Amino acid sequence: MEAERTRTAEAGVFQVWYQPQVALETGALCGAEALVRLADGRGGVIPPAEFIPELERSGRITELDETVLRTVCADLREAERHGVRLGPVSVNLSRLHLGRADAAERLAAIVQESGVPERELVFELTETAAHSDETDELERLLGRLRAMGFAVSLDDYGIGFSTLKLLADMPFDYLKLDRYFVIRSETPRARAILESTVRLAERLGARTVAEGVETDEQLAFVRRAGCFAAQGYYFFRPLPFAGYLRAARAQRRREE
Ligand code: C2E
Ligand code: CA
Ligand code: CA
Repeated sequence: MEAERTRTAEAGVFQVWYQPQVALETGALCGAEALVRLADGRGGVIPPAEFIPELERSGRITELDETVLRTVCADLREAERHGVRLGPVSVNLSRLHLGRADAAERLAAIVQESGVPERELVFELTETAAHSDETDELERLLGRLRAMGFAVSLDDYGIGFSTLKLLADMPFDYLKLDRYFVIRSETPRARAILESTVRLAERLGARTVAEGVETDEQLAFVRRAGCFAAQGYYFFRPLPFAGYLRAARAQRRREE
């Protein structure tokens, strides 16, 4: 079974799914996060937790991220042909990109080739990747991507090595508050942390996105805390491209 999955991973039958994000002030779709899936060959999909660790060990995860980015750009163009604006779409980057001196240039080249405007993409870098010896590289990559016109997002905020130094030195546009704090929103301590982090991000010129919102209570809480947007099963599960296109189209109709 394991060997079979690895072979499939190498054959490259990846799919990109999209989880829509909702702006809390208006309730409107405001983009999505691209999440990779592996086709199991029987019509189902295998989640990333089952194949990403192996790709990280072998170093091939950077290639996968580039494949995902290429697919996202093609999907954005396809949606545009249908008259639907899908973006901005967030693309996850593994920390292994930090070790590549030309990472930003390679990513930018893929986007330029596709003709998608840079502002339609957000690159998410997990903050848990920022081991103390990698913060310089992280800062450099985020800085270069932003200079090229992309937005950048600090993913999984609050559960990794987040230090105030990191926030002070690192340029970023979005802060994604980890689900850990959303789940614990009934506890006063998690609330205090979430609310003050939203204010902190605001002062630094960034927007906060709450991850993993599943219930009415959690939604009310992240809205009260002042988060800009939320993502979670409460609104949408990750959808295949066609499903996301339908959701975005329905949104456009509501706006008309
Ligand atoms: P992540 O970046 O933190 O992505 C969010 C994960 O939370 C996704 O899991 C999503 O399906 C899940 N999620 C969203 N809403 C809810 C909710 O309300 N409740 C719960 N319980 N979960 C929710 P997924 O798709 O299995 O991805 C897992 C991780 O795999 C991602 O975590 C990310 O670290 C990684 N990943 C996914 N796609 C890529 C990719 O293209 N490249 C890289 N390098 N990593 C990826
Ligand atoms: Ca992410
Ligand atoms: Ca996350």
